[in-house]
Amino acid sequence: LKKRLQALEKKAKIQHPAVKFLPEGKRKRILVTGGAGFVGSHLVDKLMIQGHELIVVDNFFTGRKRNVEHWLTHENFELIHHDVVEPLYIEVDQIYHLACPASPPHYMFNPIKTIKTSSIGTLNMLGLAKRVDARLLLASTSEIYGDPEEHPQNENYWGHVNPIGPRACYDEGKRVAETMCYAYKKQEGVDVRVARIFNTYGPRMHMEDGRVVSNFILQALQNLDITIYGGGKQTRSFQYVDDLVDGLIGLMNSEITSPVNIGNPDEHTIEEFATIIKDMVGTNSKIVHHPATEDDPQRRKPDIEKAFKGFGWKPVMPLKEGM
Ligand code: NAD
Ligand code: UDP
Ligand code: UDP
Repeated sequence: LKKRLQALEKKAKIQHPAVKFLPEGKRKRILVTGGAGFVGSHLVDKLMIQGHELIVVDNFFTGRKRNVEHWLTHENFELIHHDVVEPLYIEVDQIYHLACPASPPHYMFNPIKTIKTSSIGTLNMLGLAKRVDARLLLASTSEIYGDPEEHPQNENYWGHVNPIGPRACYDEGKRVAETMCYAYKKQEGVDVRVARIFNTYGPRMHMEDGRVVSNFILQALQNLDITIYGGGKQTRSFQYVDDLVDGLIGLMNSEITSPVNIGNPDEHTIEEFATIIKDMVGTNSKIVHHPATEDDPQRRKPDIEKAFKGFGWKPVMPLKEGM
């Protein structure tokens, strides 16, 4: 164990030599739920490097301890194995509430659990925020717009969601999570922020994540067929995870309490993604078509003017460089 801890400590120092020192008054105690997941772990890295004290709460459904293992021995870091569906009593200044599976195969695996995570889990985090007077940022999603009838999507659009389809556990779960944030704000004065996150990719995506970027890259690397679901004319707009993390921190520390889109407006068809990845990897993979998935949104592109005007955020990583 000692050896292992020493190795981890060494790794933490190598990977993160520049953890800043923040004086007591500026150092915040920050809870990141879902902090062992893909997005959460990158957020944790950035906040740790800024010098804050981090508490990560995760039930490891889709997250992995190894995503944060480089911090395990750091005095500013604590990892709690906990399910947000159960109440949590700790003391913090800010809460980034990310706990929730994000990939369609993951959130459809146990839809009832997904609903409980977004509803009861968010209720508990709002109850915690209320008790300790913390600011809470909800990781909401572009999925709340459903299969959109407006394009691009701005924050005033109410969405077009099938409430009983296979994606509903996630979409409606996030919609009620947003509703709860504003009920707690209005009734209890809880200080909330809502980030509507658009498709994101980057290092530490789960290998069996099932989302399109990781699927296509893995397929290309193994010379397997690249599987397009449906005609491939459906579009998505992908942002690199570091851009998202900057947007989340920017929003948390802004004064904008209404929902804000965080995404990259660079829109491509899924067919184009397949070709871009195939060409970059230089693979012999064939591009093949599988049946379309039910209720698959056909177009998605964020209007990000609000984030830019509100706190000067816009994504900077070009698609090909990020890939
Ligand atoms: P992820 O699956 O990698 O991370 C989610 C994390 O939450 C995992 O570590 C998982 O173990 C944890 N978790 C799940 N249920 C939990 C529970 N009941 N209690 C405690 N922990 C739990 O997904 P991600 O891509 O990192 O997404 C993070 C957040 O961002 C999610 O809320 C997701 O809805 C949102 N989001 C992500 C994207 C994207 O493209 N990545 C897009 C829109 C919204
Ligand atoms: N809660 C929590 N941690 C806290 C405070 C509350 O997990 O520090 C949970 C609590 O168990 C409750 C939920 O948050 O289920 C909502 O709390 P609130 O105080 O709003 O509701 P109440 O307890 O009055 O029903
Ligand atoms: N998709 C695909 N092949 C795959 C995985 C996904 O064609 O192997 C398509 C999927 O049908 C959707 C788009 O890629 O149109 C994005 O899917 P993903 O699951 O990544 O995210 P979401 O649907 O939640 O935006």
